[in-house]
Amino acid sequence: QAKDNGRGRYQLFAGEMDEAVKERHLLEIELRAALATGTGLALVYQPIFSSTDGSLSGVEALVRWNHPTRGLLAPNVFITLAEERGLIDQLGLWVLRSACLFVATSDLPWVAVNVSPMQFRSERFAQSVLTVLRETGISPHRLQIEITEGLLLQNSPVIQTILTELRASGIRIALDDFGTGYSSISYLRNHGIDKLKIDQSFTALLGKDPQIESIIKSIVDLGRSMNMVVTAEGVETPMQKSLLINIGCDELQGYLLSKPVPPEQLSSRKSLSFA
Ligand code: C2E
Ligand code: MG
Ligand code: MG
Ligand code: MG
Repeated sequence: QAKDNGRGRYQLFAGEMDEAVKERHLLEIELRAALATGTGLALVYQPIFSSTDGSLSGVEALVRWNHPTRGLLAPNVFITLAEERGLIDQLGLWVLRSACLFVATSDLPWVAVNVSPMQFRSERFAQSVLTVLRETGISPHRLQIEITEGLLLQNSPVIQTILTELRASGIRIALDDFGTGYSSISYLRNHGIDKLKIDQSFTALLGKDPQIESIIKSIVDLGRSMNMVVTAEGVETPMQKSLLINIGCDELQGYLLSKPVPPEQLSSRKSLSFA
């Protein structure tokens, strides 16, 4: 059907599609293998600091995949794939279990674990979190679950039930990448959130956009009025750090303070000097 001069382009496109499909398929098989054997997956931990005294508040667990041929892969390369291919529950459980096991054997105050919306909605989620806590023996107060605004927007009773169940057990809920979605004040009030994590795109505008300081200040005020802790993500410069401290953010996280590191490197990062 395609015109002669268009066909060549179409076939090239189809060929490229084919390659991409094959590549994704191969990656899926390799991810299944990694999950089955537990080899190649790893967690790194990024310290989060109190902005009042510079002490270590806790850490965020971030998943990595040391791929057999491609080297170290960041989550954006394989989380969506895991979601599409029905592997996210298994991957998420591996992350949760590993993070809790690590915290159980450390003196870290708490660990925050990212949970994808699809994983959160699954029927077994709340139960499996509680099981992991029991198996690893850590107190629920030492686990934070990071969700995104998109999950709240679904405004579903199922999500509300899971959130209520988790919080009732003492687990805290953080809203990740705050400000990039569309959550309204009523969503925040209705869902009972313990922490707002201001997205790094806001932090990056400090010193560049004259309005951003007052916008961040209003997020801090909003959080405070609902008894939430407010954390700034993506702190990369001393200027951002001191502005965020002045604004009154409770916690700071970012490359300036520490990159995500393998567990054995955490002990040397116990606190910051905030002088
Ligand atoms: P996130 O939860 O918002 O995590 C913060 C991301 O920003 C991490 O990227 C971290 O390495 C990076 N980051 C930290 N400080 C700075 C900074 O100062 N500047 C910049 N430019 N970046 C900074 P990472 O590890 O590549 O993770 C990306 C996203 O992947 C995470 O965003 C999270 O949404 C998702 N993710 C990570 N681990 C998991 C996981 O175990 N499960 C699920 N479902 N998602 C995960
Ligand atoms: Mg996060
Ligand atoms: Mg974030
Ligand atoms: Mg993010």
